This record gives sequence, C-alpha cells and structure tokens, in this order.
Amino acid sequence: MLRAFQLVDSSSIQLQRWKPLTSLVSSISITNRSFSSSTSCCCSSSRGSILFSQISSSRGNSLFRSFRISSISSQSSVDDVSSSKSFSSTTLQPTAELPKVSFCQWCGAAAKQAIPDGDDKIRSICTACDKVAYQNPKMVVGCLVEHDNMILLCKRKIQPGYGLWCLPSGYMEMGESAADGAARETLEEACAEVKILSPFAHLDIPYIGNSYIFFRAKMTSSEISPGPESLDCRFFPPSDIPFDSLAFSSMFVALKLYVEDLKAGQTTKFHYCTINKRPGSSASDIHAYTLVDHFRSQ
Ligand SMILES: [Zn+2]
Repeated sequence: MLRAFQLVDSSSIQLQRWKPLTSLVSSISITNRSFSSSTSCCCSSSRGSILFSQISSSRGNSLFRSFRISSISSQSSVDDVSSSKSFSSTTLQPTAELPKVSFCQWCGAAAKQAIPDGDDKIRSICTACDKVAYQNPKMVVGCLVEHDNMILLCKRKIQPGYGLWCLPSGYMEMGESAADGAARETLEEACAEVKILSPFAHLDIPYIGNSYIFFRAKMTSSEISPGPESLDCRFFPPSDIPFDSLAFSSMFVALKLYVEDLKAGQTTKFHYCTINKRPGSSASDIHAYTLVDHFRSQ
C-alpha cells in the first residue's frame, strides 16, 4: 500500500484508481498477487484475487485522480473540509514514550542509548555487538466487510478496548501481505471467510506508531461467530453503528468515512489520513485527535 502513493510535488499527491490488471500499463511498478497460493494463512478457502494498482509519474494520465487535501478535527464531520494545506512528508509528530530497550535482542548484552553514526536519533545500541534496536511503526490491517448493506463489527474480548467494538483487524504478521493479514484477522475474530475487494483507507497514527490499512471485503459464506478474541460479532446497518462504543480512534475515523461515503453515494473512494492523537491522551479517549492530511480519491 505504501507504494500506492507518490509524492508528486509539495502540494499534491496523486493516486491511481484501481483497475483490473488486464488494463494496467505500469510505468513505475505494479504489485499484484493471487491469494490462492498463500501458505501462511488459515483462510485460504476465502481467497480471491486482489488487484493492485499501478503508479505512474504521468500527470496527464486520465487514470489519475488528485486527492482533495483537507484538515479536519474530531469535532467536525468528515466532510467538513474547511482548508487545504500543503503536504509535508518530513513533519514529525509527537509520539508516546517508547519502551526503553535495555538489553540486546541478539546477544543479550546491555544496551546503551546513543545516536548511531550517520543517524540523528537516539537508539538502543548493544554494548557488545553494536547492533542497533530500531523501533519503527507497526502495521495494523483489517476489513470493512459489507453484507446485505450492513457492516461487520467485533466486540473485543481482550484489552485494550475490552467490550468495545472494532472492525476485524490486527497486527500484520511477518510473511503475509496486508490483504492476507486483513482476511486472516477477519477469520480469526469473526470466523468470517471474506474476499478482499479493494483498499478503503490508510490511516496513520504517528503518536502511537501504528499505521492502519483497511480493505473493503465481502463474505464468501454467510456464517459468522465470535473468535477467541471476540465477545460478539454482528452485522450493523450503517445507521446503527455503535459510534459511542468503539474501541479506538482509528475505528471511529474509518467508520465515519465509510458512512459519509455511503451518504454521498460514493462507495469506491480511497482515503488516506493522519490521525494526530492529543499528546498524553489514552487509547480509550477515541475523540482526542485531529485528522490531518486527509486525501481521498475522487
Ligand atoms: Zn548484542
């Protein structure tokens, strides 16, 4: 997904619309894969093919649609876009305090806090083998599963957010694609077999170092049941989504975007947003954020 973006200049980002592979002519890169040969996931029977888009540097390519750039707050409606702003790929947001790595994960020796040669950030460096323990954001992947004009949500059986509702989602595992992971999490949390249809949103939360990718998906069977990490799972009509009982800001934003798109009759949009959590706020304060750098396909 990260390859799906190209910084064209200081004020715009362009994203190509999703097209069948047969119509693609790539000028930079094409990523595509079929899920049918996946070996790491337990839901291979649900696998269909996902079609990834190309990236092109051609501004005149009619397949491109510029994103609208907006900045909104959590108090505003998602469509309440009041200002355009330049996109900066170099802005660093405040982050929650990271756990200190005191011992080397490779040899077990003590680690020191220092700036490695050629770097500009303090890292944990092993005092014996000199290896650096880099701490980088994690990818969370999930599905927006539509079925009979309803959306699948799971009630969490684990902390954080115990008893609150989420889109089926979780951390991406080594060896799997984002789409594979989203389908796997949906199977694990709701025992739902799905086919990935298209990407829906990429949401970054720099404060906690999480990056979310949600995919639209459809059921390949009609059965759902709570997995080991879920108390319940249900399909909700858009009008009944429990916005007051969602677990995280990412879920609130994703579902709000989804409902706004539905109201606008636009069900194929793709969103990219940065969710800036209020420094010091807890994960349970899902409204303590500002939504910035909101790009959406037209
Ligand atoms: Zn070491």
